[in-house]
Amino acid sequence: MTAAMAATHEVANQVPPLEGYDAYGADAWLRAAVARAKVPWVEAAAHALGMYVGSPEARHHAMLANRFTPELHTHDATGHRVDRVEYHPSYHVLMNRALNAGVHSMAWKCQPGGFSARAALFYLWNQLEQGTACPITMTFASIAVFDQAPALSRQWRPKVLADAYDPRPEPMARKSGVTIGMAMTEKQGGSDLRAVATVAVPDGEAWRLTGHKWFCSAPMSDGFFTLARVPEGVTCFFVPRSLPDGTRNTFLIQRLKEKIGNRSNASSEIEYRDTWAEIVGDPGRGIPTLISMAHHTRFDIIVGVAGMMRTALNHALHHARHREAFGKALIDHALMSNVLADLALEAEAAALLAFRLAAAFDAAVSGNAAQANLQRALTPVAKYWLCKRMTPVATEAMECLGGNGYVEESVLARLYREAPLNGIWEGSANVICLDVLRAFARSPEALGAIESEIAAGNDARIARRAQAALKLLRDPAAAESQARTVLETLAVCVQASLMKRHSEGAAAEAFCASRLDDGARSLGTLALDGAGLKAIAARAEMGSG
Ligand SMILES: Cc1cc2nc3c(=O)[nH]c(=O)nc-3n(C[C@H](O)[C@H](O)[C@H](O)COP(=O)(O)OP(=O)(O)OC[C@H]3O[C@@H](n4cnc5c(N)ncnc54)[C@H](O)[C@@H]3O)c2cc1C
Repeated sequence: MTAAMAATHEVANQVPPLEGYDAYGADAWLRAAVARAKVPWVEAAAHALGMYVGSPEARHHAMLANRFTPELHTHDATGHRVDRVEYHPSYHVLMNRALNAGVHSMAWKCQPGGFSARAALFYLWNQLEQGTACPITMTFASIAVFDQAPALSRQWRPKVLADAYDPRPEPMARKSGVTIGMAMTEKQGGSDLRAVATVAVPDGEAWRLTGHKWFCSAPMSDGFFTLARVPEGVTCFFVPRSLPDGTRNTFLIQRLKEKIGNRSNASSEIEYRDTWAEIVGDPGRGIPTLISMAHHTRFDIIVGVAGMMRTALNHALHHARHREAFGKALIDHALMSNVLADLALEAEAAALLAFRLAAAFDAAVSGNAAQANLQRALTPVAKYWLCKRMTPVATEAMECLGGNGYVEESVLARLYREAPLNGIWEGSANVICLDVLRAFARSPEALGAIESEIAAGNDARIARRAQAALKLLRDPAAAESQARTVLETLAVCVQASLMKRHSEGAAAEAFCASRLDDGARSLGTLALDGAGLKAIAARAEMGSG
């Protein structure tokens, strides 16, 4: 560069990168959650992971793993089928770091308090990278299904919980650690799993599967819980990628999805052709068998989204602190303070909800029936609501960075593409809402558990708002079309109750004032009857009128 060119290129008023900090040590909310859960033993691991998450090295790996996306090799050079996904080395670095830290395993190995301690680690991990979070979550959640299949569990559990990352395509017995996926969705439907068309036929003690799966993430995992049809109905099976004799099971990866976000993680379409499988649970009971895995995955999504909101907020605050406009730092402008404060309330209430649930999971492990009810009932409600809030939070945080937020070097750009995904998988919004309505109808104690949690906030406004949701719920003509309003209101009331108990007074007051009286905040919450809703939608259809 010539001196003349350099002279015109003075860089001013640009923000230093947000890196080189301890994402655990710097986070008072997270440290308070760990203290409330009485798990001080996780602090050393949380500081170590927090330092890693905040390091430029880890940030660089996260960027590379998402920029250089996985590639599928269906055949080797001499035409043999290999069905191998090649990841960028940074993906392996990240997986290795997370699994070595027990981000997938701690809940099952360290009781009491393991769910809360692990949630702290997973909350931190989601401030770094979400593509790796997918196999970490599925591996964590798989234990809930292994626990229903004692023989399979005896073989696989120790390797699932081994805190080792071993990506070699070898049989489980030869590996230091394994990861687990799940393959349920087919072309004709993902929400309605009763439509599964894959067929299973017996082969001695084992089974052979034939069919396709339309979405199968992390296809290099070592085993998959999957669904296939037998005469009794849809049934759960376990498909290992390698067979005990060392050969590869038939697991034909047809192509990888080209996704909006979550790009470091391969998501594939696969075919089973006479694929060897073991049955899990009773024939015809596949969906209830897999529900426990889906439930734990939903819990992880809540913790993950809370972590994603935390990192969005951190970047917005950091930028506003260092960037000047119109003569002063952005953070000192009254209107920007309003945006930042609102983001902070959202992220804090999300973290409180996530760690309250983690505590309920821990209490349930210790045999507390009321807390078991709470975690069962609140998990889908919180999953629905935090996923709905994630996209507006990512968008606002991005806007705080102005143009710098909209370029690929910015973490916000990746976070923005990531934001809607958790709302789609593991039960998209409407499906979750309908599940919750059915659960409330089946077991009134589920709703009771949420009501008790709301009441613990001891605040008349919160109680009044919750009553409005309960009234809708009791109205059979309104309950289904108003289900989003019901779930949103219950979630916000639990968050308000938690803010009253655990946040600072003014923040709790601001949360209640802005969230309880404002009415609904998401699309799909119009207060109209079925005919009114249909008429509006029909008027908008192409060709109408
Ligand atoms: C990146 C990515 C990775 C994935 N990885 C996996 C994986 O590893 N394994 C796996 O099994 N699946 C995976 N999935 C699939 C995912 O779980 C499904 O996409 C999801 O379950 C929704 O199913 P669907 O796509 O068939 O949509 P549909 O079931 O067709 O639903 C479409 C829309 O209709 C709504 N809807 C459905 N029924 C009703 C109703 N009764 N009333 C009102 N609204 C309704 C839904 O809420 C949704 O908004 C992945 C998806 C993505 C995007």
